[in-house]
Amino acid sequence: MFKYAIYLSSALMLSTSLTYADEIKIQKLNEHLYVLFGQGGNIAASIGEDGIYIVDDQFARLSDDIKNKLKSLKPNAPEFVINTHHHGDHTGGNENFANSGSHIISHDNVRERLKSKHGDKSRYLPILTFSKDISLHFNGEHAKLIHYKNAHTDGDAIVFFKKSNIVHMGDIYFNLKSLPFIDVNSGGSIDGILGAVSDVLTKIDNKTQVIPGHGPISNKQELNNYLNLVKSAKELILAAMKTHKSEQAVIDAKPLSKLNLTYSNWLSQERVTKLFYQSLNK
Ligand SMILES: [Zn+2]
Repeated sequence: MFKYAIYLSSALMLSTSLTYADEIKIQKLNEHLYVLFGQGGNIAASIGEDGIYIVDDQFARLSDDIKNKLKSLKPNAPEFVINTHHHGDHTGGNENFANSGSHIISHDNVRERLKSKHGDKSRYLPILTFSKDISLHFNGEHAKLIHYKNAHTDGDAIVFFKKSNIVHMGDIYFNLKSLPFIDVNSGGSIDGILGAVSDVLTKIDNKTQVIPGHGPISNKQELNNYLNLVKSAKELILAAMKTHKSEQAVIDAKPLSKLNLTYSNWLSQERVTKLFYQSLNK
């Protein structure tokens, strides 16, 4: 971000692509799977004999940089783009990738939400959707996309790379030593997040590499700690709801302060409390 600020203040003549250059970092997880870290949600990339596919595509302004990074690994455009959910920091590149030949895959509800935002002829829309799960057999890998109901949103998919023992959790898992964003207005719920994380924990082992929607690569132990943290937060909010009647009274009581967490500007303690309250008050 510092570099970006310098570019902006020093010269408008610098092109957009230059401005964002070097903001995409690659981490290799195994022979075929990589993670690209940038400004939005974490991107998983499968690179192999059959070609390329990616999980999530961040923001539209980063598409060229993402494509260039992928080309440094293999000179094809991605055959497929999987969307873990509809949020713009995970689907913003859809149109750009579709225009270079990628086929976009998501849960049915992601398509519906993108349709209401972009219109039904938009190239942002996934062309292949599913209601429960779907498997992608490509690059010698068997990736299984499983839908989890009403978790971060109402269209979440978690991607299990079975052979590689790697899982991409989308925003059901924020690995930022903080609480998750529950998009209550898009069908998200705290119990859905707890259910999804609990289920993933039964499907992985101590060697599984866990890709969170945001934050560094993680593992089963840390995911278990996250489950316990979210459970504790739920209990604190429920306890506060017993003694404080209104949403504002619960927010004012600051029940989450006991957890001693740090919060980002966009997801303050007050906002987390509000969203947890709204989810538990339904
Ligand atoms: Zn999200």
